[in-house]
Amino acid sequence: MDYLIKALARNGRVRVYITRTTKVTNDAILTHDLWPSAASILGKTLTVALLMGAMLKGEEALTIKIDGNGPIGVVVADSNAKGEARGYVRNPHVHFSKHNNLDEVTTLGYNGYIDVIKDLKLKDFYSSTIPLQTGDLAKDFTYYFAHSEQTPTLTSLGSVIKEDNTCSLCGGIIIQLMPDAREEDIEFLEFKTPILSSFSGLLAENEDLENILKLIFGDDYEILDKMNVRYHCACSKDKFARGIASIGKAEIRNIIETDGQAEVICHYCKNQYIYSKEELEQIEKESKL
Ligand SMILES: [Zn+2]
Repeated sequence: MDYLIKALARNGRVRVYITRTTKVTNDAILTHDLWPSAASILGKTLTVALLMGAMLKGEEALTIKIDGNGPIGVVVADSNAKGEARGYVRNPHVHFSKHNNLDEVTTLGYNGYIDVIKDLKLKDFYSSTIPLQTGDLAKDFTYYFAHSEQTPTLTSLGSVIKEDNTCSLCGGIIIQLMPDAREEDIEFLEFKTPILSSFSGLLAENEDLENILKLIFGDDYEILDKMNVRYHCACSKDKFARGIASIGKAEIRNIIETDGQAEVICHYCKNQYIYSKEELEQIEKESKL
């Protein structure tokens, strides 16, 4: 089972989120038939989404949308505070490798943006957009946190996807300096950057995420929370019915008369919902538009 740990380290001056998302990534691969470099990008995006989701509370949720103008097209991941994430990419059948490594920069592109939209259950959504800097998601999210959230952050992501389209490991870590962090904490993290740069190496050697925390912080950390994470889409026939209602009575009438039924496929989980003529007439009746 994939899981996530929230912790404080260095006497509470450093905040850490760490997760293993191997099954999440495999579920995404199965749902979308992702090829390896597309799988790596969506796996890492879902990983960041889960790590950022762990910073939310209650019913809050967020969406990450990345478009680097590369062959994969737009990449979307949603997550919430309960450890659930779902996502999709425009073109799942993309695969580039370079020197036997997956070439994510070519797959994603680097001429575009990262958009983070948070639903904090207030009147308006909070949205923040940064230009993509490198096409390397860990570096680009480090930049995102520094510029959009004014939080000095170290982000490391790792994945291993095999040629047979299975993920043997995926995960990531976000380390943030709290406002009372000292110069010595910055130096400490700079000193640890080389070990953190290969997160897939850390995951390969450490089944238990706590071992990774120990390796980085010694005994100077405190676990605040441990939660399971999973690929989960909460769509339903009812939710899509509300979507159909929002297109308005005239358009629903048009569908009834031309197709006699409607078929909706969820982008995130590929579930298919079919609405019969009778169901469409019911939605038409309830539509306020
Ligand atoms: Zn769905």
